[in-house]
Amino acid sequence: MADATADPGASGGLQGLGRAVILLGPPGAGKGTQAQRITQRYRVPHLSTGDMFRDNIRRGTPLGLQAKPLMERGELVPDEIVLGMVEDRIAQPDCWTGFLFDGFPRTLAQAAALDQICGRRKLGRTIVLYMAVEQASLMRRLTGRRICKAGGHIYNIYDRPPRRDGICDEDGSELIHRPDDTEAVIKERFAAYDAQTLPLVDYYRVRGVLSSVDAMADADAVTASIRKILDGAIAAQ
Ligand code: ADP
Repeated sequence: MADATADPGASGGLQGLGRAVILLGPPGAGKGTQAQRITQRYRVPHLSTGDMFRDNIRRGTPLGLQAKPLMERGELVPDEIVLGMVEDRIAQPDCWTGFLFDGFPRTLAQAAALDQICGRRKLGRTIVLYMAVEQASLMRRLTGRRICKAGGHIYNIYDRPPRRDGICDEDGSELIHRPDDTEAVIKERFAAYDAQTLPLVDYYRVRGVLSSVDAMADADAVTASIRKILDGAIAAQ
């Protein structure tokens, strides 16, 4: 897999982001792929609420048991549950120099709660990267998505297939098809996105913290655009 973060000087001098960075966009926009690249370069934790729930489901925790049926139907997990989990996570020391959210916030209530948390913790101005895509292309991206069990590396059987069927190029582990990446559940996830998450675009735009990224471009070009925005913000702080 081509990796735009692989240049030798990539991490030189970059110590965290000092703020919350949010990847906002519909399911399949490429948030997970970009998050892996950004977190490697800027040395901040990648906080994917979807991954946190899947981890809780695997471990059979009470939180996982609550989230599982909702996720299987493509519905959102209630705000109080998500917020409790996120607050616990960002209290960890690795989050002191900032963090990158992928899949959070997903409702206006979550966004308002995050604003309060960032204010209390005196973090820098939040950056929201809005990954703009044509919805028509997303079904193919999602039904074709395969994720490596060990390292979370992301493939697509149509557009970015692994060299060997069902096996990760990076670490040789098995590739899995997420149970909610089926057509019927994807339609529900789009409906939840349109109704509950899309209003966040205006919420952040009026606050002047939204930067749009053309997420229809190839993954390396998207990474380059994001780096430009983040490097600009770091230089200005
Ligand atoms: P994607 O962005 O590809 O749809 P995620 O892995 O981010 O998938 O999320 C999978 C599921 O986890 C969602 O459909 C939802 O049920 C649940 N979930 C994840 N993050 C949140 C959140 N911030 N609020 C509510 N539910 C969430």
